Amino acid sequence: MIEKREKAKSRTSTHKENKYSLFSLAKNAVSKHKNWSQAWRSPELKPEYDIVVIGAGGHGLATAYYLAKEHGSKNIAVIDKGWLGGGNTGRNTTIIRSNYMWDESAGIYEHSLKLWETLSHELNFNTMFSQRGVLTLAHTEHELKEMTRRVEAIRLNGIDSEVLSPRAIKQIVPIIDINPQLRYPVMGGFIQRRGGTARHDAVAWGYARAADQLGVDIIQNCEVTGFNIKKGAITGVKTVKGEIKANKVGCVVAGHAGVVAEMAGFRLPIDSRPLQALVSEPIKPILDTVIMSNSVHMYVSQSDKGELVLGAGADSYNSYSQRGSLNIIEGMLAAAVELFPVFSRLRMLRSWGGIVDTCPDASPIISKTPVKNLYFNCGWGTGGFKATPGSGHVFADLIAKDEPNSIAAPFSLDRFVGGYLIDEHGAAGVAH
Ligand SMILES: Cc1cc2nc3c(=O)[nH]c(=O)nc-3n(C[C@H](O)[C@H](O)[C@H](O)COP(=O)(O)OP(=O)(O)OC[C@H]3O[C@@H](n4cnc5c(N)ncnc54)[C@H](O)[C@@H]3O)c2cc1C
Repeated sequence: MIEKREKAKSRTSTHKENKYSLFSLAKNAVSKHKNWSQAWRSPELKPEYDIVVIGAGGHGLATAYYLAKEHGSKNIAVIDKGWLGGGNTGRNTTIIRSNYMWDESAGIYEHSLKLWETLSHELNFNTMFSQRGVLTLAHTEHELKEMTRRVEAIRLNGIDSEVLSPRAIKQIVPIIDINPQLRYPVMGGFIQRRGGTARHDAVAWGYARAADQLGVDIIQNCEVTGFNIKKGAITGVKTVKGEIKANKVGCVVAGHAGVVAEMAGFRLPIDSRPLQALVSEPIKPILDTVIMSNSVHMYVSQSDKGELVLGAGADSYNSYSQRGSLNIIEGMLAAAVELFPVFSRLRMLRSWGGIVDTCPDASPIISKTPVKNLYFNCGWGTGGFKATPGSGHVFADLIAKDEPNSIAAPFSLDRFVGGYLIDEHGAAGVAH
């Protein structure tokens, strides 16, 4: 009897809460959100900060958050030329995995994956992190052998990875065609079951809100146009809203790292190219894993809304335009339709591009620079979304201590002088 009464009471209270939240939604809609509490402030730019982070993408916001939270840094600004999360953070296909070949890559990406696993709790914001598995296909005998060798290297680093037969792949992905006569026959593949996806905007919003709550000023529509440097050390940043004095500056400007480095008087070994993706109309659930194919240069997953999110390769020329060439998505879609015949009936809704900065070895730069107290975090190329928490975490550490920790150290600019490259281009072929 008591149990029944308790159940009825809890039903009524949930009902009441729903009623109140619906009421509050309606009230705010009618009042044009006048009293709606903002997720973060829109502060005025101050003339001086201890630390300025340039770039309010996921990496920049995460950097500011960890600086404030773990290093007790105060008086931090994150400034962006556009709106927060409007760069590659809001344009990517959200694949998260840590199954890279080299030990150094395993270090940073696995550090990140571990942070992803608790990020929604850490930020008190649902990042919609979904460990649905990332499955990479092999289409030739050689690719399968190379993949098997890579899986062995990955497992030696304690990271989950399994080689799968075509039949096992068909069980996980019933819509895939494993007919050996295909132009890209499925010879096998490998899966990281802890890999998956997250909601890209939620990651930016979650870090922004959490950083703001720790006192970080987030300044949008504030383009950086130059630096003030005295005796080889940074003293401030020039922006379209005026000059700011700063003791330390961290640059996290994916797509524009080369341009911003030039403002500080040095060059980066980086190449900027458009990379594009597209989404279909929403459909019923047909795919609950992420599929990647390096040969076709295709990657696909189904979003929670039901859209199929497909990504293609980067354009082969340098550009700062946020749209790519049609032939790239045309080639990718032709191969995708062969592998997944049901896709032929899909209508595509929209496509877009982002500018990716890629280093010759397809590994990032997390480094001090020739200018004292100016640090760069860039070169994540086509695959930096997955690194967002880990990258922000180690970059904050570098800025706070002026020394890279053991995870970040291999990614310093010195490697291009010493020749100790971390060649993930050669190892993985594709780095999403
Ligand atoms: C189509 C596409 C698909 C991708 N798919 C994946 C994937 O599946 N998985 C994955 O891991 N990665 C993927 N990536 C890569 C990933 O998106 C990036 O590596 C990552 O988002 C970079 O984050 P960020 O915070 O460094 O950069 P961004 O989010 O680009 O932030 C940089 C910010 O710097 C600002 N900025 C630039 N210049 C200035 C200036 N002068 N002054 C002030 N601000 C400035 C920009 O406005 C921007 O907001 C993909 C990228 C694209 C384009």
